[in-house]
Amino acid sequence: MAEGTGDLGQVAAEASTCTRCRLHSGRTQVVFGQGSPTADLMFVGEAPGFHEDRKGYPFVGPSGQLLTRLLSEIDIRREDVYICNVVKCRPPSNRDPQPDEIATCRGWLDAQLRLIDPKVVVTLGNFAARTLLGTTTGITRLRGRTYEFQDRVLLPTFHPSAALRADTSGRTENRTLKGMREDFQALAKLLGELPPPPREPAPAPGAAGPAAPREPSPGTAGPAAAPPASAPPRATAPAPPAPPEGREPGSEQLGLF
Ligand code: SF4
Repeated sequence: MAEGTGDLGQVAAEASTCTRCRLHSGRTQVVFGQGSPTADLMFVGEAPGFHEDRKGYPFVGPSGQLLTRLLSEIDIRREDVYICNVVKCRPPSNRDPQPDEIATCRGWLDAQLRLIDPKVVVTLGNFAARTLLGTTTGITRLRGRTYEFQDRVLLPTFHPSAALRADTSGRTENRTLKGMREDFQALAKLLGELPPPPREPAPAPGAAGPAAPREPSPGTAGPAAAPPASAPPRATAPAPPAPPEGREPGSEQLGLF
């Protein structure tokens, strides 16, 4: 499993032996999360799939490749964000996580949010958006705007696997992928609007040394600073119809890149 350092690493270690819900019985390992423990930008997906369960990291299959690609298109490195899922263990045969499993696993996600303290959370797909926003509204209606969430900004978009399942022949427009690209452009704009980090105070004359630097936030997508302005819903893009949700498809479909 991927672990962070310090408190996050400690929580990851605790989660690695979790047996709180039935999903523990079929997993190869807990897929806790991966990325910068000081990230300003955090992605929350649905559940580990086949590849994630084997490797112990989230979004390492074709969906992960698409996520990395979409990040690169807005000049964000994958290693500078934090990525995790609503549930940390792979559901059998990639079935949907059940409500009681999501509720039982919620404590680990809350700990990640508290310790990483991202300024922007992007939910990928129905389950993550519904879980964090506490709604039954589907992703097609939720996306295209931002929401205030725990003094952060939450931006919902499709799960990458939905874009991979859409038509990749090139004969018709992949509207799910187009919608994701619109959402990532909105994300880039949002990150660009975050307030700059506070300046370090200059050391007093004669002081023994420079002020202690802030814990590094290596290349996180936006500057680390005060919380973003609250985000009442605001339209950023029209919402195309969504194909069925899900996790990693079983085959590489990179033609849409
Ligand atoms: S899915 Fe979450 S609550 Fe269930 S066993 Fe895995 S880590 Fe524990």
